[in-house]
Amino acid sequence: MTPDPPTLLGCSAVIFLLLGVHFILSELSSRRWSRMAWYAAPFLLGSASGLFFIIPTMLPGLWGLRLGALFMVMAYGAAWQALRVMLGCQARLVLLVSGCGLSFILSVLAGSTGLFHVISTAFRLAIIAAFHALAARDLQQKAPIRTPARRSLLRLLHFYAALHLLLVPFVFWLPAPLGAAPATIWAVTTYNFLVVIEVALFALAMIAIPWEQLAFRQQELILQDPLSGGSNRRAFQAWLENDGKICAHEALLMVDIDHFKSINDAHGHAVGDQIIIAMGRVCTDILYPPTVLFRIGGDEFVVVFQCDSLDEMLATAHRLRKAFSTETRLIGGGAVTATLSIGAALCPGRGIPRTELLAQADNALYIAKQSGRNRVVHAPWDETPAPVQHIPLIDRTAHQA
Ligand code: GH3
Ligand code: MG
Repeated sequence: MTPDPPTLLGCSAVIFLLLGVHFILSELSSRRWSRMAWYAAPFLLGSASGLFFIIPTMLPGLWGLRLGALFMVMAYGAAWQALRVMLGCQARLVLLVSGCGLSFILSVLAGSTGLFHVISTAFRLAIIAAFHALAARDLQQKAPIRTPARRSLLRLLHFYAALHLLLVPFVFWLPAPLGAAPATIWAVTTYNFLVVIEVALFALAMIAIPWEQLAFRQQELILQDPLSGGSNRRAFQAWLENDGKICAHEALLMVDIDHFKSINDAHGHAVGDQIIIAMGRVCTDILYPPTVLFRIGGDEFVVVFQCDSLDEMLATAHRLRKAFSTETRLIGGGAVTATLSIGAALCPGRGIPRTELLAQADNALYIAKQSGRNRVVHAPWDETPAPVQHIPLIDRTAHQA
């Protein structure tokens, strides 16, 4: 059975039309008319383009084919704009109109054969490649969350940008719609197949990406502490249990605000909250990524960062302690004195379970509290002799007894 181009194009046009209607209906309830129009535009324009290619004789001369080609370029340009709108950016109307306008002017100047026809077809393919490349660039830059649908759409856009660009040097020999030579059934079938696949995958990605981004943000919120802005206890548990379990080149600071209950009692809960917020601010200011701050209890924090030396770890811990007391001096009209006690533990080169590193830091914190607060105490380190005063680990249960 020989494929029949009008039937093929007709089926594709109906699919595009249905996808356009889907986006109109799904955006209708949000009453964001501009977004609805951009989402539906590529599919409706694609459908209109198909219609002109099926019945080019509905307009005199070459006008049916010219308008079909114009709507095709506009559909690709509108798809790029729809993607921008989905990413929360403004549509780039000037680039869109000038690209489509130039392509149309060239097609008006060109006949059905000859050099101008070849140039016009090459330009159309190049502009479609450019729209794909620009969409890929925007997706890469404006959607930093690397979700699976974003990855797939990026691959799709790169593939189609490369494909259209690759057709340009061969445009003289390839049959329409792949090139400028007289159309053949296989060329129409191949192009139609490629377009249908692309449109279907593009529509799926347009549906999936917003959901994925929303799910990612909700996941972030689930793991975030609202006051300090750091990660919460749930995230800390996951870090302890999942992420490799064994520490490597890591330092862990167990941090506790001194006499926080008394601060709350004396100045009120709101001031207490301000102090917790200040802790997050100080960490953001003085500790650099990939340092992680966890708030694991009311006034208890864990700070984890990459570190190989005891000196570096202690310097960081002291910097944190000092910055915190300076920052909190401004809270509550200057009446608050908030300090930190810090228990520090450094992962030995051989690596130990993170739970063990945590226990070491916890014991060191206990000693810091016992020996007067507002200080840093480190757990003994078994690979390099400690250069500062070393306080031996004390069994916590023995202390509590
Ligand atoms: P220490 O120096 O031994 O750590 O004494 P502390 O008073 O800091 O220790 P304790 O654990 O008894 O006090 C912690 C306090 O933290 C008790 C609780 O009221 C307060 N807290 C817990 N969560 C919050 C919070 O979200 N906001 C405020 N303002 N206070 C909180
Ligand atoms: Mg405390």
